[in-house]
Amino acid sequence: MPYCPQCHVEYQPGIVECADCVIPLVEGTPQFCHNCREFVRPDDTFCDNCGVLQQELPSDDTPECENHPDRNAIGGCVICGKPVCDECSTRHNGRIFCENDNHLSLHQGFVVAYTTSTDYEAEMIKANLEGASINAVVFNQHDHVYFTNMGALAMVNVMVPRSQLEEARDVINALINEEGLPGDEDDEKENA
Ligand SMILES: [Zn+2]
Ligand SMILES: [Zn+2]
Ligand SMILES: [Zn+2]
Ligand SMILES: [Zn+2]
Repeated sequence: MPYCPQCHVEYQPGIVECADCVIPLVEGTPQFCHNCREFVRPDDTFCDNCGVLQQELPSDDTPECENHPDRNAIGGCVICGKPVCDECSTRHNGRIFCENDNHLSLHQGFVVAYTTSTDYEAEMIKANLEGASINAVVFNQHDHVYFTNMGALAMVNVMVPRSQLEEARDVINALINEEGLPGDEDDEKENA
């Protein structure tokens, strides 16, 4: 059955567009993370929400720990996307973090304001947020060897302090309207 990749509603065969989101449907069944039950896109390696490795991957596609090339990763840091093994990861509220302590504290104070697949767009948004006195940080999966092979599928997240999220959204929305960037899905990702 076709389903909407944004709101995850399933439609009858033959329907091609989500009535609510007005975006093309995709074929198949929506997949949900076995750890946190959040929606995962069919080509996601790690759950966006909790970082846990998705089990449906063919075994030769399983990424290795970036610190231990002989071990399979159990997930990717939800902040920087770094693939990590059990030993190199920390779990906090069911989410995976790499051994960089800053990433756990960032997670507690920062939220994702925008996700894109291009470095250029992320840097442009960061510059505009900084222009509005918002302390934005960019995390780029392209920094990790595993994702360089994935090209356009690797994600770049622009994160802002939780307290400035509303403000950041306004800046980003204004930019998108101005520059005609592809729309950000507007659902609130609660990282509490
Ligand atoms: Zn929809
Ligand atoms: Zn998950
Ligand atoms: Zn990290
Ligand atoms: Zn490791």
